[in-house]
Amino acid sequence: MDKLYIFGVPIHRVTMIEAVEILKGYLKEDRIHIVATPNAEIIMMAQKDEEYKKILNETDLNVPDGSGVVFASKVFNKPLKERVAGFDLMMEFVKWASHKDVSIYLLGAKPEVVEKAQSNLKNLYPSLKIVGFHHGYFNEKEEENIIEDINKRAAQVLFVALGAPKQEKWIYKNKEKLKVKIAMGVGGSFDVIAGKAKRAPEIYRKLGLEWLYRLIQEPWRYKRMSALPKFAFKVLLSKLRKNNF
Ligand code: UDP
Repeated sequence: MDKLYIFGVPIHRVTMIEAVEILKGYLKEDRIHIVATPNAEIIMMAQKDEEYKKILNETDLNVPDGSGVVFASKVFNKPLKERVAGFDLMMEFVKWASHKDVSIYLLGAKPEVVEKAQSNLKNLYPSLKIVGFHHGYFNEKEEENIIEDINKRAAQVLFVALGAPKQEKWIYKNKEKLKVKIAMGVGGSFDVIAGKAKRAPEIYRKLGLEWLYRLIQEPWRYKRMSALPKFAFKVLLSKLRKNNF
């Protein structure tokens, strides 16, 4: 698969339609496939966290989540086809899966959030097979029971909403134990599905300003989001120095 490296993090050059097809293909293979959604924030995290960078180099699919990643690809004249946000990919996949016999498990977010997310998904797609769900505030001891529950219910697809980098590290650590075919980190997606957090309106997304909307909604995240201008600066600097990523 064609990929682009941004500061040591591989990003696959896929469209939304292609990404959904790839996920469908994973269901036919009898092993776990890890899907991540690197955006500028995640790539900057990986610069300071070698373990995280290594994990992102071992995932099966990294979709270009975020306009920062698409911007960087253009600066380096290696344009990515389009932005594939993790939330959108999850929803596209779930829409397809609701007509098929695909079993889904939701892990992460607060107890009332994950419960509401699963009921909202069931209302949206009554034939969707959500075989189980569990909140994301558990300790190491409870972890074994959760993994057992996921396997016992024969989930094929596991959406993990523990935030980055926790979710990717958790999936990676447990990849031998999990019997699912797809494990995908989906960040704050359950909060959006549960109606607790709002997705940026279309206009913000079209302009590549989803981060700005998020900053207005959740100003306390500004510290974490300071990774975005740092990322843009790093991209432009390496262009000026004619380095590749
Ligand atoms: N979360 C969780 N367990 C934790 C920490 C976080 O389940 O120990 C959940 C949190 O409730 C939220 C999601 O992980 O639903 C993180 O959302 P965020 O918007 O921070 O995701 P990111 O920006 O990292 O993709």
